[in-house]
Amino acid sequence: MERVISSEQSNYDEGFELSLRPQTLSQYIGQETVKDNLSIFIEAAKGRSESLDHVLLYGPPGLGKTTLATVIANEMGVNVKMTSGPAIERPGDLAAVVSSLEPGDVLFIDEIHRLNRAIEEVLYPAMEDFCLDIVVGKGPSAKSIRLDLPPFTLIGATTRAGSLSAPLRDRFGVPLRLEYYDVKPLQDIVTRSARLFDVDIDHIAAEEIARRSRGTPRIANRLLRRVRDYAQVRGDGNITVQIAKEALEMLQVDAHGLDHIDHKLIVGMIERFRGGPVGIDTLSASIGEESVTIEDVYEPYLLQIGFIQRTPRGRVATRLAYDHFGYAMPEEI
Ligand code: ATP
Repeated sequence: MERVISSEQSNYDEGFELSLRPQTLSQYIGQETVKDNLSIFIEAAKGRSESLDHVLLYGPPGLGKTTLATVIANEMGVNVKMTSGPAIERPGDLAAVVSSLEPGDVLFIDEIHRLNRAIEEVLYPAMEDFCLDIVVGKGPSAKSIRLDLPPFTLIGATTRAGSLSAPLRDRFGVPLRLEYYDVKPLQDIVTRSARLFDVDIDHIAAEEIARRSRGTPRIANRLLRRVRDYAQVRGDGNITVQIAKEALEMLQVDAHGLDHIDHKLIVGMIERFRGGPVGIDTLSASIGEESVTIEDVYEPYLLQIGFIQRTPRGRVATRLAYDHFGYAMPEEI
């Protein structure tokens, strides 16, 4: 079964997300520090009629990195070309995309930490001097040709800024970290999406959905769609608090936005490892989930709400987690 509170994008989300995407910075809710910074850099670049400096967006999945890249392009009044680290396998792939850019355009590379080193090497002069050195041919007849590029803005997005090589990271003039959203901005996102769906929603119902969305707009929008279905079938189509609570209960998403996988993870730590410390690989084997998925998808939110801690010897379940799942914390920990 698809996990309703997964922060990763499913095929099903894609169509809805396009229609819900804010187009301008003023429509982009929350992330105030990021927006304040960006609006100054954008205004300054426009004032000088230059392209915006390269931007690195990092943070957990579903917080709006792709959305922000399109917002930046709209605010600059330029086009955006989208690709991703794994899609650029050879230098020629990169050449094909950058040579189609118009002056000032945005090139968005999602999962930029997955670019291979050979591509990174080609990217450095493209970022610094707007030129591309490409080797054509093989063996003794191989020669290097230089392609001049129009000035452009590279926007890289990653969930793992730490996996980026230092030389690549250093070439981004504007590194911006997206944070988990508080309940209020998420409530505003739910209300805005409901309006776009043409559904009536009580403001407390929107808050209830926001509270269980793990600080993540993608999850908020997905929960809203499920609650809307429930309201249509079990009610009159309007989303009241009662309807929202019933639907979220049916979806088995608890008051903190935790589901059966979080339950399995934390209760597993408590019951099998006395709350830890337990290494990520051991944890992964014991619950049958890949360690990268635990690290990138499940764990960041559990760390954020203080249910687990990372120590040099492994993960530890905290008192909050013991209390939430109704376990007594062992004395000697
Ligand atoms: P990933 O890293 O997995 O690609 P992402 O961080 O790029 O995810 P997006 O695809 O940009 O996430 O956003 C997910 C959904 O959340 C989209 O439907 C988008 O419209 C909505 N969304 C994200 N941020 C905001 C925001 N600040 N205001 C309103 N809606 C938002």
